[in-house]
Amino acid sequence: MNDYEIVMGLEVHIELATQRKIFCRCKNTFAEAANTNVCPVCLGLPGALPVLNPEALSCAVRMGLALQGEINRNSRFDRKNYYYPDNATAYQITQFYEPILKGGRVEVQTETGETKVIRIHEMHLEDDAGKLTHDMERRVSLVDFNRKGVPLLEIVTEPDFRDADEVIAFLEKIRMFALYLGISDGKLHEGSMRADVNLSLRKAGEEALGVRTEMKNLNSFVSIRRAIAYEAERQAQVLDAGGRILFETRRFDEASGTTKTTRTKEEVMDYRYFPEPDLLPVHLPEEYIRKMEEQMPEFPQAKEARYRRDFGLTEEEARILTRHPATAALFEETLRLWEAGTAGVSDASAKNDGQPEDAETRRRAKAVAARMCGDLMYLCREKKADPGQWKITPEALAELLQMQEAGAITTKTARDVFALMFDKNIEPMVYVNEYHLLITKDEDALTTAVDAVLKAQEKSVSDYLSGKEKAAGHLLGCVMKETNGQADPTQARELLLKKLAERKAAGTT
Ligand SMILES: [Zn+2]
Repeated sequence: MNDYEIVMGLEVHIELATQRKIFCRCKNTFAEAANTNVCPVCLGLPGALPVLNPEALSCAVRMGLALQGEINRNSRFDRKNYYYPDNATAYQITQFYEPILKGGRVEVQTETGETKVIRIHEMHLEDDAGKLTHDMERRVSLVDFNRKGVPLLEIVTEPDFRDADEVIAFLEKIRMFALYLGISDGKLHEGSMRADVNLSLRKAGEEALGVRTEMKNLNSFVSIRRAIAYEAERQAQVLDAGGRILFETRRFDEASGTTKTTRTKEEVMDYRYFPEPDLLPVHLPEEYIRKMEEQMPEFPQAKEARYRRDFGLTEEEARILTRHPATAALFEETLRLWEAGTAGVSDASAKNDGQPEDAETRRRAKAVAARMCGDLMYLCREKKADPGQWKITPEALAELLQMQEAGAITTKTARDVFALMFDKNIEPMVYVNEYHLLITKDEDALTTAVDAVLKAQEKSVSDYLSGKEKAAGHLLGCVMKETNGQADPTQARELLLKKLAERKAAGTT
């Protein structure tokens, strides 16, 4: 295996999360009763005419801009002819001669921390096929056409990958583009994103490409890694034994971890591609492209740099907050509302070159980041929730952090309420009032609580008096508990230490 270099190219299919299917008005939904979202167009009934969904087009153009390729101002659709039971039209509408995107480049970080450019060959729009279910017991195959006509984007790369890490880094990046553009949820295991890996070997130092095999529809990063390792080893063994690699499609079998031939590859000729006569060519005016450019979001790389520069966040904080658009949005909106909520307060410092204000913003940004990178990520892992699957609103989080900063609630209360906010729509102010969690400055109540604790915790008191200063921490905890967390911790600590000092003085005299 060491004598060979692995050469791989990818074909990535992304199911677009448009409202409607690509060429008809049927709803584009997942997991509904079979054959409920169908019409004459997607069922391929005679005389039905397709019309391109503009939403699918805009998704494609924005992805094309993210891939930094050349948006084809005049793209067209073609028919790829083949019969299969999940394909009622007996052809797929795709873009063969004039795809929507030509060329492009995606930068990925390799394991060694270097940046590598993966070249994009082209990207095109097409429609998905239906779904077959084989019922072995009843010995029947069922077909569901709900998925027929769901818009797909297919991204085809140049053979630029040399190992599985690069492949996964690329797919992560594509998924991130899809998420930030809001065009797909990018879930591999639900089939919203599918990758085919074309793999061949060549002797180290050789220029010419070897014969490749294609592994289809790998549905997790783990499968992709295993399939690549197995197939590279298999090809090396065939070549070492003097054999020949056949140009074919192979299926990765999860259970055995091996790949098996599914069919020898058809030649392009076999599909009899020809221009789709029922659809007009797609002409994109410059104004349309400009409009799409204006709608491009800020992607994680740029966001990360900005968070570090403007808010002084660490590399790790910036990375965690930008990994998913829902996380970044919660962070930015919370900070904005917090700033807006205290705008009057910091007015006085505004004259001072804006410097103290910047420091304030950074301090607040740090506080939001701390709550999100710590507690929020922990809760997501604990509850196996994806970012955004929480009930926390920026309004509520800003309110909670403001209350904590103002010293109205303790850190513990803030954390407890935050954890509740994950699953419930809670207004922090209303909640802490209702459950009496606000810190009180009531000195009489505090004195009563401290006295009660000193009386009940004789052991800790005598420990403290005999020099074990750590016992004070335990006593303070008891006071906070006694006051239901409503005591001001600083005030409680001062009073506790004062009382203990009095006892010490009384004891030594
Ligand atoms: Zn339809």
